[in-house]
Amino acid sequence: MSDSLTVGKLLVNAQQMLEGARIANALQEARWLLAYALEMKHHELASRTEQSVTAEQLARVLSLVRRRESREPLQYILGSQEFCGLDFSVTPAVLIPRPETELLIQETLREGGFAGGAVLVDVGTGSGCVAVTLATILGGMRIFALDCSHDALCVAKGNAERHGVSDKIVWLEGDLLSPLRECSVAGAVDAIVSNPPYIDEAEWESLQPEVRDYEPRQALLAGPQGTEFHERLIHDSKQFLVPGGLLVMELGQGQAPLVRRVAEAAGGYTGLQTVKDEAGIERVLIARRACEGPSHG
Ligand code: GLN
Repeated sequence: MSDSLTVGKLLVNAQQMLEGARIANALQEARWLLAYALEMKHHELASRTEQSVTAEQLARVLSLVRRRESREPLQYILGSQEFCGLDFSVTPAVLIPRPETELLIQETLREGGFAGGAVLVDVGTGSGCVAVTLATILGGMRIFALDCSHDALCVAKGNAERHGVSDKIVWLEGDLLSPLRECSVAGAVDAIVSNPPYIDEAEWESLQPEVRDYEPRQALLAGPQGTEFHERLIHDSKQFLVPGGLLVMELGQGQAPLVRRVAEAAGGYTGLQTVKDEAGIERVLIARRACEGPSHG
C-alpha cells in the first residue's frame, strides 16, 4: 500500500479520518500532523504532494491521526502552543495556553508601570506562559512562579530556559500563595497575576472532550461556584501586596459580578475594574491594594 501512497493522498486520507471524527478544521489539522510526522515545513508539504510515503512514515502519521481522532488536543500531540508570539512546550501536565489569557498579560503591562526591582507573582503558572512572557518583556523584575503541580513546574522551567529567562524566575511548589510565606515578601509584592481554575462542577461534563478528557483537571476545575480560587486569591493576596499593588485575575464567562462583589466585601482594594475579551466576555478583573484600609478582611 505504501508503494503507491503519496504525501498528497495521505493528506486527503488524514483529512477524511479527522472529518469522520468530527474535528472542525480537519484539513488544517491534517496538515499540521503530516508536517510534524514527516518532519516537513508546511510549504514542503504543499510542494511534495507527489513524493511517495514509506511504510514507516505512514505508520507515524496514522498513529498521530488516531490520537487526534480520539480527541487528544493537537497541541499535546505536537507538543507546543504559541502564546503572545512565543512558542511554549506543553504536555498533559499543563493547561494549553489560551488566546484569551493574552489579555492578562496586556492588562498587567498596561496597569503596571513597574520600577526596577519590582516583585511579580504568577499563581498557578502551568506551562509558565504568563511568567515567561512577562519575564521576556519586563527587565529587572523579580518574578515568582507558583504551582501546586511539580510536573507543571518542570514544563514551565523548560519554557523559561527556552526563552532565555530562567535567571529571572523563582519557581515555588505549593497550594496557591502559600509557598510565598517563606520568601519574606509580605507587603512587598507589586503584582499578583493568575489564571486560576474556574470551571464549576456543573459545567464539567459539558466541556469539549479535548479539555475534559485530556487537560489537567486540577488546572481547570474549581468548586461548585467556579469562583472559589478567585475568592481565596482576593483574601490571601492582601497580606503580600504593597499598597497600590495589583491583583490581576482571569475570569470565566459570567463570573465578573460575583468576583467583584467578593473583592468589595473583602475590603482593602480600590480601582476595581473588569476588561472584556474579543468575544465581549468580562475576562480579567483588576484590583489595587488600597493604601489605607482594613488590616484584616
Ligand atoms: N478558559 C479555559 C477553558 O474554558 C479555562 C481556564 C481556567 O479554568 N483557568 O477551558
